[in-house]
Amino acid sequence: MARFEVPDGWTAQAFCFALDPTPEQTACVSRQFGGRRKARNWAVATLKADLRRYHETGKETEKPSLAGLRKRWNRVKDTECVDAETGEVWWPEISKEAFADGIKGAVDGYWNWQTSRAGTRTGTRVGFPRFARKGRDRDRVTFTTGAIRVEPDRRHVVLPRIGRVRTHENTRRLERLVSKGRARILAATVSRKGTRLVVAFRVLIQRPQQPRPSAPEARVGVDVGVRVLATVANSHGQVLERVPNPRPLEAALKELRHLCRERSRRAKGSARYRETQKKITRLGRRVADIRAHHIHKLTTRLAKTHGEIVVEGLDAAGMLRQKGLTGARARRRGLADSALGEPRRQLTYKTGWYGSTLVVADRWFPSSKTCHKCHNLQDIDWAEHWICDGCGVHHQWDDNAAINLARYESPSGDSAVGPVGAAVKRGADRKTGPRPAGGDEARKGSHRQVAEQPRDGVLV
Ligand SMILES: [Zn+2]
Repeated sequence: MARFEVPDGWTAQAFCFALDPTPEQTACVSRQFGGRRKARNWAVATLKADLRRYHETGKETEKPSLAGLRKRWNRVKDTECVDAETGEVWWPEISKEAFADGIKGAVDGYWNWQTSRAGTRTGTRVGFPRFARKGRDRDRVTFTTGAIRVEPDRRHVVLPRIGRVRTHENTRRLERLVSKGRARILAATVSRKGTRLVVAFRVLIQRPQQPRPSAPEARVGVDVGVRVLATVANSHGQVLERVPNPRPLEAALKELRHLCRERSRRAKGSARYRETQKKITRLGRRVADIRAHHIHKLTTRLAKTHGEIVVEGLDAAGMLRQKGLTGARARRRGLADSALGEPRRQLTYKTGWYGSTLVVADRWFPSSKTCHKCHNLQDIDWAEHWICDGCGVHHQWDDNAAINLARYESPSGDSAVGPVGAAVKRGADRKTGPRPAGGDEARKGSHRQVAEQPRDGVLV
């Protein structure tokens, strides 16, 4: 099958709505989740058995594929999907899409593992797909065919098997586009988010030609931080904007701490424990939603305003793995809270929509430890304020970093100055030290963080 390609002038985008299903519909959705999990686990077990047989007998089986495994699943589902108590065959209650979705998950996981082993896949090593356990697995199911639509009344959606479901929110923003022929729904995923069921439509939309950004000449540096959500500065050393962390988030986090303490006083498994747990789940979702909302607002505004935006190319995942430094735990929490990688991801596609450009600074560009006045490079701690040894200027971490980012020059040109200039480069090709044998576990208790990659590529 040919890979689906987004036609010119169209964009693939997701539209999410919280569902307000009836109890019967909720039960039906749960069954689809279970069906998906069942098929996935069957597929993982089958792939495992095939591998084992190959190792024992040397007899090759066919290459794992969605189509092949679906055929095999259809042959065995009469015996696999039997209720242990009543002896009833339950597969007819489940959408074939739920089974296909589960099998696809296992097959994709298998190939991720194979390509990762072969070294043809970038990113961290991927293991063999694991079995999904109820309660641990993220409940979800994707439908790609069948009746999927938003109703003209803008309060209902139609989904295969589940039927017409009321939504909590108005579906106007999608329905309007669909009825005008400017959007096409490709698929719908129903999943559980906290205590709620939500539907996410995968939509192909025609984006109108966007106006140019309001200040196309402007070049700004954006430092996404922990203390404030973001700091925006230009290359003249002016701080244009300090976007504070949303207050509702602080409040919600405080309440979250309070509830977690309450839960620890309850007997595990009791009704009151579950009650508190439910509150925590709900609040956790709220925290995530507030954060997502504010980051979206920020990135949209940036992409619509400035012609060129420079962000830090930081290794957010690596920073979250840092251990053993003072205050590391609190800082990791702070970093995860402000979701550092997310603004960059959003800016990547939004700058395309609104006609601005995104520049990602080299990961080792020392944006925060360079004095923006005299370019003196010095070791600074995680302190908010520091004084330059070269010129004695008092710096605020985020402001200074944003200004340096606005002045960032890509090292692709020969004239580029900075950390990747020839004089510094000798011997500095390897940015991280060699990993000790045995991986992360073997390093436990050692004080040197050889493989960790702190903020500016220099061990703090
Ligand atoms: Zn200085």
